[in-house]
Amino acid sequence: MADTTLMDKLVSLCKRRGFVFQSSEIYGGLGSVWDYGPLGVELKKNVKDRWWYAMVRARDDIEGLDAAILMHPRVWEASGHIAGFTDPLVDCRHCKNRFRADDPRIKGTPGQPDAQCPVCGSRGTLTEPRMFNLMFKTFMGPVEDQAAVVYLRPETAQGIYVNYLNVLQSSRQRIPFGIAQIGKAFRNEITPGNFIFRTREFEQMEMQFFVKPGTDAEWFERWREWRMQWHQSLGLTTAKLQWHQHGPDELAHYARAAFDIQYEFPFGWQEIEGIHNRGDFDLGRHQEFSGKKLEHFDQAANERYLPYIVETSAGADRVALTLLADAYREEQVEGETRVVLGLHPAVAPIKAGVFPLVKKDGMPELATALYHDLKRRFPAFYDDSGAIGRRYRRMDEAGTPFGITVDGETAAQRTVTVRHRDSMQQERVGVDHVAGFVAERIGRD
Ligand code: ATP
Repeated sequence: MADTTLMDKLVSLCKRRGFVFQSSEIYGGLGSVWDYGPLGVELKKNVKDRWWYAMVRARDDIEGLDAAILMHPRVWEASGHIAGFTDPLVDCRHCKNRFRADDPRIKGTPGQPDAQCPVCGSRGTLTEPRMFNLMFKTFMGPVEDQAAVVYLRPETAQGIYVNYLNVLQSSRQRIPFGIAQIGKAFRNEITPGNFIFRTREFEQMEMQFFVKPGTDAEWFERWREWRMQWHQSLGLTTAKLQWHQHGPDELAHYARAAFDIQYEFPFGWQEIEGIHNRGDFDLGRHQEFSGKKLEHFDQAANERYLPYIVETSAGADRVALTLLADAYREEQVEGETRVVLGLHPAVAPIKAGVFPLVKKDGMPELATALYHDLKRRFPAFYDDSGAIGRRYRRMDEAGTPFGITVDGETAAQRTVTVRHRDSMQQERVGVDHVAGFVAERIGRD
């Protein structure tokens, strides 16, 4: 399957089945903003729940946080976002890198044929400089003056840094410890695209781990390993995951080390998560700009220091796209094309479809009762219309791992047929055991 076709097919499946719709579609859409439909919201929620479980619930050394989107404007001065994004920027149309127009490495005049990209070396591919601020601005209070300008956060991390002492003191954690947060971030991206890969409004799942200076490299390696394992646990094709280490050209000025986890999308290898050793840059800057001491006093060692930070930063939407792209397949079955989303049962939006084989002989009543029973425990879907094969196919496309059919034997024998999405194999399971059977396979029991 050609790769562009795969993306087109995914976008159309997502709309048809209610995963993702274009924002404000009836008005012609809004550029690079997307809405999640009934199935998409469940898929993304499963991604976030699994992340939260792995980062917060399953550990003793990470606390959760939900900071506000709007923050004091000084936060963005301290973080470098205001200074960093208001310069004239030029883009290389070839390698897509973005530079400040006054970058000393640029040879020639941006916008002119002689200009040369400092990364890929192409000539004439640099755009004219334009003033560009990546942050969305808005106004707080009724008067639109400068004093009241606030920003929609371009990352969730800053909410963690400014609350670091609050969390440390209230939770009685000790360093090393982490703070995890899931929330919306906004970037007025110059070059958005590829469906939900790069959007202007998105959700981040970020964790900042505070460590004693000198132990940072060790923690960085641990976090790299744990984060890769987490992506693999979602059932992604291992060969399509790789590390990308930031070279000196890519490394942010404050970062001591940075690795991206990349996935091989139909449009190439791209970042899905970044793991960064940020040193003491963030707390140092907030200490300087706020005038508040953010140092940690280590009683055991009787020393005072500014913790170093190891960050793991992933996009929930990007992970959702990764899952969809990885799961999509077409197969030829009995002369027909079967479209399957082979999603891991733990992230599949609907866990089980429930079908009466025919609409008579008490089957709908039994199937409805079973459906209500299952729906109390996990998302299930009832379908009694059309041939049973068609109903299975509809569930295959939605990524539903189990199809449960109530048939002529159900009433007498108290058994149903469970059909497996991937193998299409069927087996008989006792009516009273079906909920447990599915729950066990989706990781709930
Ligand atoms: P990219 O180079 O792809 O723009 P980035 O290096 O700017 O990403 P970070 O600032 O490290 O990304 O953000 C961490 C994570 O947040 C990314 O790995 C990605 O999953 C997600 N993310 C960042 N920008 C977007 C966006 N515009 N749309 C969707 N997800 C995003």
